[in-house]
Amino acid sequence: MKKPLLVGAHMSATGGVHNALYTGQFFKATVIQLFTTNQRRWAGNKITKEEIALWEKAKKETKITHIMSHDSYLINLGSPKKMVLKKSIKAFSEELIRCQLLQIDYLTFHPGSALNSTEKECLDTICKSLLSLKPLIKKKPILLLETTAGQGSNVGYKFEHLAYIIKKVKKNIPIGVCIDTCHIFAAGYDIRTKKEFKNTLKEFDEIIGLNYLYAFHVNDSVFELGSRRDRHASLGMGKIGLECFKFLMTNPKTKYIPKYLETPLGDKYWKDEIKLLKHFGGEK
Ligand SMILES: [Zn+2]
Ligand SMILES: [Zn+2]
Repeated sequence: MKKPLLVGAHMSATGGVHNALYTGQFFKATVIQLFTTNQRRWAGNKITKEEIALWEKAKKETKITHIMSHDSYLINLGSPKKMVLKKSIKAFSEELIRCQLLQIDYLTFHPGSALNSTEKECLDTICKSLLSLKPLIKKKPILLLETTAGQGSNVGYKFEHLAYIIKKVKKNIPIGVCIDTCHIFAAGYDIRTKKEFKNTLKEFDEIIGLNYLYAFHVNDSVFELGSRRDRHASLGMGKIGLECFKFLMTNPKTKYIPKYLETPLGDKYWKDEIKLLKHFGGEK
């Protein structure tokens, strides 16, 4: 049997998480990302039995796999502020439990922001926060550190940051990485051509290890290489350009890794962008 290409986008869960699956199906996605709760509020959703049943049914009907949840934007597992850190760990634990109830495969999160602490302190706090989750950990979801653009005091814009966290938690926490193409480009990793992307992947392999690479957020970038500014553009409409995405869909090391669009034009373009990525990968 031919291996399926795993391409989709971040889908809205308005009206219930199961709707994200049906919207994904509408866009011909084979994978999706979603928020299991309002990403701008501390108080999380409780997943009811009815919702689980609808979710399971939608999963069967849509055949969507490799489902990814993105954590709330408020969470900072590396915060130097005690209260925020406490709230963050609580919200993250609740997110983890929602993912387990829905049997979600990956939970991706921005590692954290140092604010007035140092990057090293922030990274150590993130490791401690993650290790505190150990009693809740099950096989699924795998926690994915997202590469960041390095905006403000965000850590995670260097492969070394992620390698540092992985090394400290891997024995106790199922951990991996989600590369966001817009973010690494803004962070200074060139991926505009086949040659440059290959070099970046080689660097990733040397510092982190490609066996930790579970997913891609596929976005073009409004801002230039090394700008440290995070603003997504639709594929081919930003500073990265289409060669990068063609490479992603043809290189044997990245072709079958799940990919999730977070491009800004959303509904209007996702169908075309998903089609384009599949086309690059050799699917009609
Ligand atoms: Zn992303
Ligand atoms: Zn972003």
